[in-house]
Amino acid sequence: MNQARLGMMLAQRTTYLKRYDANQHYGKIKEIAMTANNIRIFETEEVQNFINLLSGLEQDGGNPRTKQIIHRVVSDLFKTIEDLEISSDEYWAAIAYLNQLGTSHEAGLLSPGLGFDHFLDMRMDAIDAALGIENPTPRTIEGPLYVAGAPVAQGFARMDDGSDPNGHTLILHGTIYAADGQPLPNAQVEIWHANTKGFYSHFDPTGEQQPFNMRRTIMTDAQGQYRVQTILPAGYGCPPEGPTQQLLNQLGRHGNRPAHIHFFVSADGHRKLTTQINVAGDPYTYDDFAYATREGLVVDAIEHTDAAAIQANGVEGPFAEMVFDLRLSRLVDGVDNHVVDRPRLQA
Ligand code: FE
Repeated sequence: MNQARLGMMLAQRTTYLKRYDANQHYGKIKEIAMTANNIRIFETEEVQNFINLLSGLEQDGGNPRTKQIIHRVVSDLFKTIEDLEISSDEYWAAIAYLNQLGTSHEAGLLSPGLGFDHFLDMRMDAIDAALGIENPTPRTIEGPLYVAGAPVAQGFARMDDGSDPNGHTLILHGTIYAADGQPLPNAQVEIWHANTKGFYSHFDPTGEQQPFNMRRTIMTDAQGQYRVQTILPAGYGCPPEGPTQQLLNQLGRHGNRPAHIHFFVSADGHRKLTTQINVAGDPYTYDDFAYATREGLVVDAIEHTDAAAIQANGVEGPFAEMVFDLRLSRLVDGVDNHVVDRPRLQA
């Protein structure tokens, strides 16, 4: 729309306002709204200059990358406001929502819920495909609940402290393979997962768990193997009254995750692998609100009740066994091109 037409429409709106009287109130409000809906100002020089100004493009100093990103994001949002005729009420509801999201520390939960975490993985996969790099063990999202500094063990670790009254023993083990297909000794396998209430140590609102409960770092043995004794985790959902679930409700979506176990695997000469396995059979295995499920990452939990297996595994009764091997990919031109440096809790 050109400036002349915009001026004409604004003049029309002024005329409506002048003609306004009490009897015509609602009709006129409606007419004014209809006029406003046709207003297109985004492409005008005035608005484009304004976006340049607020993004600091006309200022020295600051961070050029930040300026570039803010310019793009604000432009896209201004255009969204115009295209979708976002009302002031809707806009201010969104601002209040952002404040609530921050106060509740749920930005890291909304992020996978709206698929951003998975989208970043999809982009990394596409970059790998373009470079001809295969990932025999798929990457998937880290989630917001990793804590650095877990106790380190050689080959085997007991991960749970035995305090979860509903805990069902799980023996989880596998081999880490190098990019050349050989078992990889001394690889660092970081594992973390939730308890039977779906809560993680350091983030447990009940305060029941000790620090680093169900968080361990295992160095693979001479055969490249890792092994842990722990308990089967439960799936979990977003806090039901929180802002993430509030938005998901508006989308008609649930906020549940299937039972899963997180991994970071690192080794010299290889890229760090961030992934998770889902316990097969969970009702949400293929309906994860965080979109972390991928083919190759769903693992059966095999139940063992026979005395020989119980004794051989050094456990006290029936237990579940999950076997999961992970295959690393080599560095790209000597660097890990996908390593993610993000704020993480260090305990
Ligand atoms: Fe998780």
